[in-house]
Amino acid sequence: MKKHNFSAGPSILPQEVLQKASEAILNFNDENLSLIEISHRSPAFVAVMEKASNLVLELLNLENKGYSALFLQGGASLEFLMTPYNLMKEGGKAAYLDTGAWSSKAIKEAKLFGDVEIVASSKDKNYNYIPKGFEIPVDADYFHCTSNNTIYGTQMKSFPKSDSLLVCDMSSDIFSRSLDFSQFDLIYAGAQKNMGPAGATLVVVKDDVLGKTGRKIPSMLDYQIHISKDSMFNTPPVFAVYVSMLTLQWLKNLGGVAGIEKINNAKAALLYDEIDSNPLFKGVAEKEDRSNMNATFVLTDETLKDKFDALCKAAGLSGINGHRSVGGYRASMYNALPLESVQALVNVMKELNK
Ligand SMILES: *Cc1c(COP(=O)(O)O)cnc(C)c1O
Repeated sequence: MKKHNFSAGPSILPQEVLQKASEAILNFNDENLSLIEISHRSPAFVAVMEKASNLVLELLNLENKGYSALFLQGGASLEFLMTPYNLMKEGGKAAYLDTGAWSSKAIKEAKLFGDVEIVASSKDKNYNYIPKGFEIPVDADYFHCTSNNTIYGTQMKSFPKSDSLLVCDMSSDIFSRSLDFSQFDLIYAGAQKNMGPAGATLVVVKDDVLGKTGRKIPSMLDYQIHISKDSMFNTPPVFAVYVSMLTLQWLKNLGGVAGIEKINNAKAALLYDEIDSNPLFKGVAEKEDRSNMNATFVLTDETLKDKFDALCKAAGLSGINGHRSVGGYRASMYNALPLESVQALVNVMKELNK
């Protein structure tokens, strides 16, 4: 039997997606060729890329609103520098919210391009909350935030309005909840947390914010070039794009983002209720900022660690160890994780308290 997969990333994909992907590796579309041995310029693959890009815009409710969806490479980490390259004016300035290790890495890269103002940081409490009430400087070209902090288990519930462009790293909660996605000018996400296998990076960008920096941008780092070539400026990560397309189709069939949001809320409520009511556990993140994707918690009595770990293993629970910078446990409950898996974890927590 398959394990309950709470891995933070790369992470769980729907079983039916894995099945279809494995079939396409051997015989794609009944063409008697593998998906990964045909030209990315073949009509069959061009159709995959088109469908994947269209599904992205459809699921985010951004169709016909002037946005492009791109499948690139280099991970979310490359977007840390592509964002300033494409949006920060020569001699310009950007504002960043520091909510964790990924934000910090984005800040480090942006500093190579110009003036970076950190509007607020939750580093003082090892990033267990989301700062609020900060101000975005009026002269910032863009404001950058991280919607979900995978390591610490915090999630932004609302996003600031300002005159600057709004840029968001949504690597670990894209497609997990309903938002007005048109408030963002640029969204990026590595595929491997909530969309597909590692190797593809999703970028959704409003076309008219590009081309205004006065910078000379190398082709591979220029969003406008990737847009003009429909994500085929060079060979795209064909397998990762195909599996992402299958996952997005699976999501659409489930009722899209609104449909999965209900399930994600139910999973998070089930686990957080147990964390709050079971005296042997304590949540790490501030309650109002808790993530519905990554729940972080610790044992109140460390001597129970071996017993709890053994119970988890016996129940087939995988991937719930916390990140080394937080410790304790982290249960990642991405879209493809079924409610039954969360129930299995909750059962083990109850058993420990018997
Ligand atoms: C995992 C993660 C990243 C890094 O993604 P890569 O694709 O490995 O570069 C960036 N931001 C967030 C929020 C993440 O969870």
